[in-house]
Formats: sequence, C-alpha cells, structure tokens
Amino acid sequence: MIGNKTFAIIKPSAVKDNHIGEITAMIEKKGFRVNAMKLTKMSFDDASKFYNVHKDKPFYNDLCKYMSAGPIMPLILSKENAVKSFRNLIGATNPAEAQEGTIRHKFGKSIDENAIHGSDSDENAANEMDFFFTKNEIF
Ligand code: GDP
Repeated sequence: MIGNKTFAIIKPSAVKDNHIGEITAMIEKKGFRVNAMKLTKMSFDDASKFYNVHKDKPFYNDLCKYMSAGPIMPLILSKENAVKSFRNLIGATNPAEAQEGTIRHKFGKSIDENAIHGSDSDENAANEMDFFFTKNEIF
C-alpha cells in the first residue's frame, strides 16, 4: 500500500546542466515531500536492468548508454495520489509535446534527454525505490 509515494530520477543531462535545484524546487512547490534523495551513477549494466521493460525497443541501447553516462539523482516523493500527480508535473515523454509548466517542457532537450523519470504505476514505483534505496535511507 504505497499510493502516496512515487519514485523519480533527475537524469544525467539535467544534473550536468546544473538544474537539480530548480527541478527539486518545482517538485516541492507542487506539494511533494522528499523522502529520499542521493547523487549516484548507474553502470550500463544497472541501466539495462532498470529499463529491462524496454529491452525490445529500438531505443533501448541508447537509453541505457545515456542513463549511465553521468551522475543522476534518484528521489522518493510523497503526496496524495503521488504517481499520477507526478506524471502530470513531468509532462509528456517527448519534451516537444510537454505542456508549459511541466518539468520536461522546461528542462527536457529531446525525447532521450528529457530531464526526469517518473514511475508510471504504484507497483513500478515500489520496485524502482528498492532498486536505488535501502530502508534506512528513506524518511
Ligand atoms: P516515460 O515513462 O515518459 O519516461 O516514457 P517510457 O517509459 O515510454 O520510456 C522511458 C524513456 O525512454 C523515456 O523517458 C525516454 O527517455 C526514452 N524514450 C522513450 N521513447 C523513446 C523514443 O521513441 N526514442 C528515444 N530515443 N528514446 C525514447
């Protein structure tokens, strides 16, 4: 029962471009509480596991390469109806189609460098939290 929690990653391009502060400010302003966050880096193998659901897609290799190219910031966030509310805040996968006021509209550069990841279901959120955080890192 985790309907009030979701999982996010500030992606390598946004970390590299110095947008951690502005993105987390947008998240907090929308009423999310930060329960966990850290700066870390995935190996190509980690990224392959994390995005295993996309293993048959044509962009899988590029996605894993990009997601392991530099530091990322995974976060656990809480708010009522967190998964859906956060998906609304991040906007469409392709920043060119993301609505104004969304994180991807503001910081996404292309469909692969789209600034931020947000879980698409409670079940995936729970698995993705476990992928990055141990119990004593979550508050
Ligand atoms: P999300 O839930 O909005 O992040 O989208 P998906 O789960 O469908 O895809 C995961 C990630 O793969 C996206 O955030 C993009 O970075 C990347 N991606 C999705 N579709 C494409 C595509 O058509 N081309 C490329 N290059 N990357 C894509």
